[in-house]
Amino acid sequence: MDILFSFKWQDVVDILVISILIHRLFILFRGTTALQIMLGLLVLWLCHTFAQATGLVLTSWFFQGLGAVAVLVIVVVFRYEIREVLVQTNPIRLFLGRPYEPRAVHLSEVEQAAFQLAKGRTGALLVFQQQDRLRAHLREGVPLEGKFSPEIIVSIFAKGSPIHDGAAIIQDGQIKLVGAYLPMTNKEGLPKHFGARHRAAIGLSEMTDAVILLVSEERGEVSLVHKGEVEPVHEPPLLQAKLGRLLLGVDSETKPRTRRRELLSQVGGFLLTFLLVSVFWGIYSGKQLSLINVTTAVDFRNIPENLELKRSSAENVEVQITGKRRLVSALKPDQVHAFLDLREIGDGYHRLELNADNIELPLGMEVVRITPSTIRLDMEQRVEKKLAVQPDIVGSPPAGYQIEKIKVSPDYVKVSGPVSELRDIDSLLTEPISLTEMDILNGKKVVEVPLVLSPPSLRLLAGENRDVRVGIQFAPKNPSKNSAN
Ligand code: ATP
Ligand code: MG
Repeated sequence: MDILFSFKWQDVVDILVISILIHRLFILFRGTTALQIMLGLLVLWLCHTFAQATGLVLTSWFFQGLGAVAVLVIVVVFRYEIREVLVQTNPIRLFLGRPYEPRAVHLSEVEQAAFQLAKGRTGALLVFQQQDRLRAHLREGVPLEGKFSPEIIVSIFAKGSPIHDGAAIIQDGQIKLVGAYLPMTNKEGLPKHFGARHRAAIGLSEMTDAVILLVSEERGEVSLVHKGEVEPVHEPPLLQAKLGRLLLGVDSETKPRTRRRELLSQVGGFLLTFLLVSVFWGIYSGKQLSLINVTTAVDFRNIPENLELKRSSAENVEVQITGKRRLVSALKPDQVHAFLDLREIGDGYHRLELNADNIELPLGMEVVRITPSTIRLDMEQRVEKKLAVQPDIVGSPPAGYQIEKIKVSPDYVKVSGPVSELRDIDSLLTEPISLTEMDILNGKKVVEVPLVLSPPSLRLLAGENRDVRVGIQFAPKNPSKNSAN
């Protein structure tokens, strides 16, 4: 439970920022080789952490080394992609942008182009780029910034065209590159009629998430190639459905529905990420150490009977405490006590060092520093003295009366106190006794009142009673005047 109370706003922001970043990265790289590689690295790291936590020294060392080598290999192998991502990815878009951008290619136009080429027995390769970058896999090619249209596609692949060889690369509804050569697959046992064009399409689809539309010159057939698989499509409407399914959010007709589903899956994905990050944060913060400062009063314990603490250089100390973050943030100031044991102390001035032994703390925490770390004390001898009891009478007697006699019992008490304090004291007052509040009975008042121990360092000796009896005798006023007459 205490983990809930120990949450600070910084922790919530911490978890939110990391959740958003991870979620954005996930969306950016979803379905790509990059994500698979990152997941692989994550698994390596988890194995390493687990092995480390369970004390498998050699295994943990192995996974750590493997992770380091993997990072190096990835950097070398994907150097072009990394450069491209760094150059092209705007860090602001990573945080705020909409990674879901429906590509403006119209499936009906693709269908029209493909079957027109097939009908004319014109060979063609249309590469639809998705999340994976393709540049590093392509050879040759002529850059072209043109909107996709069936007419342009048909004329590019027309036999007489100087750029009919190779493939056209289509990205975000634009024909980006034509006459590009793709990497061939090394697969064995492919059908006899799969020549260079088929092998090139399969090759690129094995390395990236691109979807490749192939029109066979030899058979006048349209096929879709994705993830190394070639699927012939004979019916024009089927092409739209299949291509739409392979290209995320491409189909203009189904855009609204896809968009809502996309939004839902994004929210769900984010909640899942948030949950995972929170769990991870809980584990991590449980291990993390944290510091806190607590100010507490110093408790002077076991002062010998014959001594008095006259002065101390500090009443409070500030204690810096370290411990597991979760424990520290749940710590309450009244759980920290500072004390000095004066059992062995003598008369006069003393300088005492404070260390961790002088601090009482809940389990699992340690003292880092105490300020001040030394306390100066002035100890004084206590002496005993007999003091007269003096009733503190306030107010005036009832009308027509005067005080005749006051009797106090006992009339002396024995106290102990510091020499300097007792030197000038000869008597002790009682608490005030009000005359006006007293009713008269046989002209005599008797009350029990406590003594006032002032200065507070005074103490009654054993056997002495704090309450004293005060008897006041009243007499009618002016009796002397009457008797004189
Ligand atoms: P088709 O069914 O059309 O005959 P295929 O698989 O039998 O195709 P080939 O007959 O060898 O292939 O087709 C050769 C054509 O394929 C070349 O003229 C060229 O346009 C294209 N091509 C060959 N190699 C590549 C490559 N690496 N990248 C892109 N296109 C290529
Ligand atoms: Mg051929």
